[in-house]
Amino acid sequence: MDGQTKSTDNVEVYSRSGRFKVWFMANILLIMTVISVVLGILFGLLLRLAEPSATTIVVLGFPGEILMRILKMLILPLIISSLITGLTGLDAKSSGKLGLRAMLYYFSTTFIAVCIGMFLVMTIQPGKHASKETLGDGDQQSKLSTLDTFLDLIRNVFPNNLVQTCFEQTQTYYEEVEKNGTITSVRKLGYKGSMNVLGLITFCIVFGILLSRMGRQGQVMIDFFSVLTELTMQMVDLVMWYSPIGIMSLICAKILAMDDPDRIFAQLAMYMVTVILGLIIHLGVLMLIYFALTRQNPIIFFQGMLQAWLTAIATSSSSATLPVTFKCLEENNGIDKRVSRFVLPIGATVNMDGTALYEAVASVFIGQLNGFTMTFGTVLTVSLTATLASIGAASVPSAGLITMLMVLTAAGFPVEDVSLLLTVDWFLDRCRTSINVLGDSYGAAIVQKFSQKELDAATERELEEGSHQISNYPNSGTPLGEKQEEAHF
Ligand code: ASP
Repeated sequence: MDGQTKSTDNVEVYSRSGRFKVWFMANILLIMTVISVVLGILFGLLLRLAEPSATTIVVLGFPGEILMRILKMLILPLIISSLITGLTGLDAKSSGKLGLRAMLYYFSTTFIAVCIGMFLVMTIQPGKHASKETLGDGDQQSKLSTLDTFLDLIRNVFPNNLVQTCFEQTQTYYEEVEKNGTITSVRKLGYKGSMNVLGLITFCIVFGILLSRMGRQGQVMIDFFSVLTELTMQMVDLVMWYSPIGIMSLICAKILAMDDPDRIFAQLAMYMVTVILGLIIHLGVLMLIYFALTRQNPIIFFQGMLQAWLTAIATSSSSATLPVTFKCLEENNGIDKRVSRFVLPIGATVNMDGTALYEAVASVFIGQLNGFTMTFGTVLTVSLTATLASIGAASVPSAGLITMLMVLTAAGFPVEDVSLLLTVDWFLDRCRTSINVLGDSYGAAIVQKFSQKELDAATERELEEGSHQISNYPNSGTPLGEKQEEAHF
């Protein structure tokens, strides 16, 4: 009898350790990433005591710099190929429906984020707890009007040169010219060195929809982009094994490069608390929306996205995180590739809840700092322009700080005071970027839930036609949630 119990116990112990082993092997990359974040913070704090030179900081940050370069390199092939393959997996009508659902989600969640930010900043009033005497005066900034920024946004949606979109965006600037003895500012159109993702998206959407309607004639092109997506994702797989080293280096170097954190954090403490509290509340709201609409556990979904969340914190760029977001969504959370590949590149570019919330809080903070009273008109102006500014912000580090100039100009607050926030922006940028990434991810799952009918119909159609395209979508037809359980037992 005793022996029997023992052997049952042994089986139990064995199976438990066996299960742990399987879990460990399945999550080894995530475990390494978490360890790398902790080590990055520890090394950063310890090495600060040794007051390292600027050269040492560059060397320590070098592996991280390489990670950023590789991730950025992958963005272009990934966005182009994934958008096109995502769209060719659906017919034009279904793509339109999916796109509309995604847009509805993006606008409503961004609006909620701005409302949370406005409510908190007007209740906590962080600008009343800081003073301009201690913070100092801001630096002169460029004087772009709201109209200029808005028109630039539209110009970038319709690029005039496809090759140029891969590395430059249109931007208005002002030049001082002398005319009849007087100096006047003249508006000119120029370019800034940053990929024009909006323009690429426009082209790829039209290209993908037309290609999906072409039938047999277009098959070779569809195959080409499917292979390109697959290859890029395989490259992402390789990069992910290097990412823990890069992430550790990025975090360590950032902590070392910080100047006098005690002084700065103390002065802007209330402002930071307001932004971070807002972001946490917004994450809670996103989780609630996800639960209410899909009846799935948002925490399990979050666990599946952990790797992308940590990468967003380390890189402070949603586009650099995009390759990892794809992996987590498709492999851990079982999102249909036709959905993720279509909505994720668009979401990473236009859906920035964290940035919208941040811009609302930061602009009102500057207003409060300068003693402005908030009228209903100002609240409305800040809310609308913050939404627009978040859509226009590139998904690169500190982009939100630049588009915030538009919000400040529209509200009539001093634009130069943006520079006062620079000292803490590296930190808040990481926090808001991580929420931007999660917002896109929950959005993809919600769009999938509401598009199951279209997805099933497309799968059936492809099966009937005997198209081999279906093999490109191993997740297709998997109802949301089934993969979640598989990935996290
Ligand atoms: N860094 C953010 C992102 O890539 C944009 C911002 O500055 O708010 O999502």
